[in-house]
Amino acid sequence: MKELVIDLEAEKKEILKRYRALLKASKATLQKGDKRLIRQAFNMALDSHKDMRRKSGEPYIYHPIAVAQIAAEEIGLGTTSIVCALLHDVVEDTAITLDDIEREFGKKVARIIDGLTKISGVFDYNSSLQAENFRKMLLTLADDVRVILIKLADRLHNMRTMEFMPRDKQLKISSETVYLYAPLAHRLGLYAIKSELEDLSMKYMESETYKFIARKLNEKKAERELYIKTFVEPIREILHDQELKAEVYGRPKSIHSIWNKMRKKGIPFEEVYDLFAIRIILDSKLENEKADCWKAYSIVTDLYRPNPDRLRDWVSSPKGNGYESLHTTVMGPKGQWVEVQIRTQRMNEIAEKGFAAHWKYKESSSDSGLDQWIHKVREMLKNPDSNALDFLDDFKMNLFSDEIFIFTPKGALMQLPTDATALDFAFEIHSDLGARCIGAKVNHKLVPLSYKLQNGDQVEIITSSKQAPKEDWLNFVVTAKAKSKIKSSLKEEKRRVAEEGKEILERKLKSLKITYNSDNIHKIAFYFKFQNTLDLFYNVALGKIDLKDLKEFQSSERTVEQNSPKTIEAAQLEGIMNKVKTKDSDTLLIGEDLQKIDYKLSSCCNPIPGDDVFGFITINDGIKIHRTNCPNATKLMANYGYRVVKAKWTSQKELAFLTGLRITGIDEVGLINKITTVISNDFKVNMRSITVDSDEGIFEGSIMVYVNDTQHLENLIKKLRQVRGVTSVTRFESESAMHKAS
Ligand code: MN
Repeated sequence: MKELVIDLEAEKKEILKRYRALLKASKATLQKGDKRLIRQAFNMALDSHKDMRRKSGEPYIYHPIAVAQIAAEEIGLGTTSIVCALLHDVVEDTAITLDDIEREFGKKVARIIDGLTKISGVFDYNSSLQAENFRKMLLTLADDVRVILIKLADRLHNMRTMEFMPRDKQLKISSETVYLYAPLAHRLGLYAIKSELEDLSMKYMESETYKFIARKLNEKKAERELYIKTFVEPIREILHDQELKAEVYGRPKSIHSIWNKMRKKGIPFEEVYDLFAIRIILDSKLENEKADCWKAYSIVTDLYRPNPDRLRDWVSSPKGNGYESLHTTVMGPKGQWVEVQIRTQRMNEIAEKGFAAHWKYKESSSDSGLDQWIHKVREMLKNPDSNALDFLDDFKMNLFSDEIFIFTPKGALMQLPTDATALDFAFEIHSDLGARCIGAKVNHKLVPLSYKLQNGDQVEIITSSKQAPKEDWLNFVVTAKAKSKIKSSLKEEKRRVAEEGKEILERKLKSLKITYNSDNIHKIAFYFKFQNTLDLFYNVALGKIDLKDLKEFQSSERTVEQNSPKTIEAAQLEGIMNKVKTKDSDTLLIGEDLQKIDYKLSSCCNPIPGDDVFGFITINDGIKIHRTNCPNATKLMANYGYRVVKAKWTSQKELAFLTGLRITGIDEVGLINKITTVISNDFKVNMRSITVDSDEGIFEGSIMVYVNDTQHLENLIKKLRQVRGVTSVTRFESESAMHKAS
């Protein structure tokens, strides 16, 4: 172990030096006899802490002196508070009792010290104890708000000197600070302390980001200062000309607030424009305050164009915590927006020191928001029905606006966005917990999944192994995590169910003698108006489509070969044949003979001009034209060769023929749009239907389009293959191979 060499004489000198600095800071409020009281408190603290050292190795007394200094200098508190700050740790950490304090310093000081001692362990792993402690803290606040203010000073000094603490303590203390103390400082109007607490917490919790922003700020410091100088100079001049006494300066924004802006707006550091604000602090008489502020506003906005949306007038109606100021954002040189805050010295003191300054000026603000707030706190505390947890809710609701903090049953803290529900919380803890969630107990009361959580709620999730995510859950969850987990789980479930539907459909098609293949499935999906085959299978499994309708579908698609009527009359056949045969050929000319002869293009292979085709004579449906490579062709020609007639296309151009395309690709945003744009806009081709399946990034679609001939089709296919994301484009070889002849 390293031996610690301590120069006690030097330490004694240093302690006295710090003590004198404290006295100097409190001078403004000292009254007769106060100095003696402070001396007395200092001596008691010095003596009782004499054998104690801080983690840094320094004498412990440095800490109470520093807390007292913050209370006096940065919060503006008076003698009683300075005395209490000096003694704030003696009852808890040394042999001195509350009675000793009361005997030497009286009841008032003793009560404040008592409050400080009681709330020293506000955060504990038992959440109800936490809440109870919080209540205690506020009870003492209502009793004497100085307890809270000294506690804040204590916390600030601990945060400032935390580098010697072990890492886990640093994290715990930092999170308590952002969670509770910084908002409390904000609520009490202690803006400077609030900002410093946030920055210090961030330094430990997000040290990389903190260092990054600090470095960035430093890099541009000279440039920024020059800018501020240029901006401020003309304002100073005109203020002087108009005999308005004022201090004008630029103030950098806190690292934490810059980081907040980056996160909220999702922008990099370079895009945060308001890295500083300009302050104009007027030296005004109380009765001229408002008029002077507006005069200064007028001067600023004569020089720089204001953004009308960014005028905030807290001079006419101060904030709830007493903050008074006039804010505007103006267009400065180089097209940069600059925030300007205008207020008087009195207003500035309130802004910096918050509540304590308010006390000082109490006559002028007897109905201030803070008084009302303290009144409300007292009322709530008096209400015997409100238990500690309920109370915590009501209170903290006012502290935060866009995020809430929720306790687990073990007292751990979770941060969620406003409007988060019990289900969001469950997913936040673990996706399995979310998926199996059937309800929750919030502050020991049973609530539904959709229950909107309030700040400070303690939530216990109730699960069932039979539970699974439901579609309607998406209507009330707000966190991205819950949403994506529910969606992927629903899709998984749908796929599982669809798998059953697929088997059912396969069996049914088999019994109807319809071939089970991709083309036919797409046609069926289209027939039943589903966007994709997954939906088709899924709905088959759910029994939502009547499989009897498949028969109807079959007949709508029916072509002659299914009838395979053997009863065709020889005379009938001969009649048709004779019609086809013209003077110099026995070939059916498609297009030309359209009027004379009753023929149709078969829907099983959708022939288009350019295809090799033949005609097949049916009994009731005239002649059907098939492609020679139609899967039905071989069978028809082999079995009913006598009913086949030669056919060829004539050179007609105006007609459009239906054909099918199968497109596969990588599913990326806008792929369908790109494909349909090529078809409709570039080729001016009409589409009859489009069905699309997208599965884990693979896109598969069937499109029925009208084309003029094979050349036209070839060009279209070529063009579609060039679309980014498309991997293959093919023509359906046989759309209704499903209608296999038996
Ligand atoms: Mn302390």
